Amino acid sequence: MSAAEQPTVLVVEDEPAQREVLAYNLEAEGFRVNRSENGDDALLLVDEDKPDIIVLDWMLPGVSGIEICRRLKSRSETRNIPIIILSARSEEVDRVRGLETGADDYVVKPYSVVELMARVRAQLRRTRPASVGERLEFEDILLDAETHKVFRNGKLLKLGPTEFRLLSTFMEKPGRVWSREQLLDRVWGRDIYVDTRTVDVHIGRLRKALCTHNGSDPVRTVRGAGYALG
Ligand code: CA
Repeated sequence: MSAAEQPTVLVVEDEPAQREVLAYNLEAEGFRVNRSENGDDALLLVDEDKPDIIVLDWMLPGVSGIEICRRLKSRSETRNIPIIILSARSEEVDRVRGLETGADDYVVKPYSVVELMARVRAQLRRTRPASVGERLEFEDILLDAETHKVFRNGKLLKLGPTEFRLLSTFMEKPGRVWSREQLLDRVWGRDIYVDTRTVDVHIGRLRKALCTHNGSDPVRTVRGAGYALG
């Protein structure tokens, strides 16, 4: 997996041993992991390096997990990041409170790492399906993220790695308009400096590849905004 395809998980846990076990297991699953030991750092890290999912301990020094969750879910830029809350509290009332703040899932400590990994993947299947090896379909296009193959109308297409990542980004959310900056962030990764015109070049290559057997162009140019699939 390249850095851009690898989903980033932010682990917010103040217990060093628990944080490391989680990070170790997530990395072993192929995820990129950012770590934070308190709420204030976690909020900064989310803005600096937007994660694809957050595993968030409830009881933290300073800003609590619940408060972080509430803040992130109230901002449009961070609302869609799935959050799994970890908590030693198992009372039903706490579970309800956790979910009411907008957490996407809730896991009670002590938890099984295997189960937590399954829950992380379940959230990503919903929000970043290509990143966890799902097959994506849009009209007559089929993208198999596991084998890295793309078919249109049953015929195998030749796509470069950048075009493949562009297409999987589009296919995760058909109809969504992506700005060039958003595509740079998602497809090239934010650490690499690339000119926005590079996006246009690769969009051109993607279109050409997609139209090899079927002439209709599924990529839509949205004037002044960017690109969308369908
Ligand atoms: Ca804690």
